[in-house]
Amino acid sequence: MKTKRFFSILLSIILLLSLFPHAFALEDLAALQAEYQRQLELAQQEVALQQQAMQQQVIQYQQDASQKLQQAQADAQKAYKQATCKHEWTKTVEEDKDPDDGFHDEVTVCIDCEKELERVTVEDKKDEEQAMTLKSALKAAPALGASAASGTCGANLTWTLDNEGTLTITGTGAMSDYTGDTDVPWFNERKSIVKVVIEDGVTTIGNKAFRHCSLTSITIPDSVTSIGVDVFFDCSRLTSVTIPDPVTSIRDFTFQSCTGLRSITIGSGVTSIGQYAFNRCTSLMSITIPVSVTSIGFAAFQECRGLTSVTIQNPDISINSYT
Ligand SMILES: [Zn+2]
Repeated sequence: MKTKRFFSILLSIILLLSLFPHAFALEDLAALQAEYQRQLELAQQEVALQQQAMQQQVIQYQQDASQKLQQAQADAQKAYKQATCKHEWTKTVEEDKDPDDGFHDEVTVCIDCEKELERVTVEDKKDEEQAMTLKSALKAAPALGASAASGTCGANLTWTLDNEGTLTITGTGAMSDYTGDTDVPWFNERKSIVKVVIEDGVTTIGNKAFRHCSLTSITIPDSVTSIGVDVFFDCSRLTSVTIPDPVTSIRDFTFQSCTGLRSITIGSGVTSIGQYAFNRCTSLMSITIPVSVTSIGFAAFQECRGLTSVTIQNPDISINSYT
């Protein structure tokens, strides 16, 4: 009886033991399922990331393509403009790629279409020699009121530039008109000019006379009746100008790129303001157009970003639509 009971217990134990591996197998299966789920989620995440990256790539390609298209259109427009431009207004800029090689380029570009028209390589030494000549001239000259440079600028006009940078123009009659930068008699001294005084008796200011000069002020007497075209182009240090009453017009390009010009007083005799006359005068904040002015030309105040107040006294004025 005892033996039978023993075997019965043993059998139970065997049965129980035989169940354990099965229990282990179930646990393994659950673990496998969890692992499978985890791998699946990882794979889904990976796919989502790849899709995102591809979408970004597509957006990037689209942006690149539209940028290239815009650039190509801009290039084509520029090429067309350069091909059809008459290059009437030019400026000369210095380009020194290697300051140690003893040479620099003088590049003439068209202001309208930005085309490079001429490039001349010049020895840096020349400038030094010029500076030396000027220095020895300064040394040789008597100390006070001495002139650093002088010459003629019209049939009956002379100019002198003193050591303080004052360019004085004296005599009677008209000033010569100039065609470009280099034929202006004070062109080599343009960066030494601080102030311009035109004395009574002078009747005109010649075309392009003060382009690229570093003057901060100018005195124009009542004897002046005409100011030429393009006279103050790129006089970025000029802050204030009073145009006397006998002057009858502000002509094309006169104050273009005078980026420091804050104040302009237009005389009561001015009847017209030419095209591009105040173009890119970015510091100009207010202006009064007197009643005498009957027309304002194309782009006269274009790119005058600081201009917040314009007073026009003539109600019948004709203003170009692009002004
Ligand atoms: Zn041009």
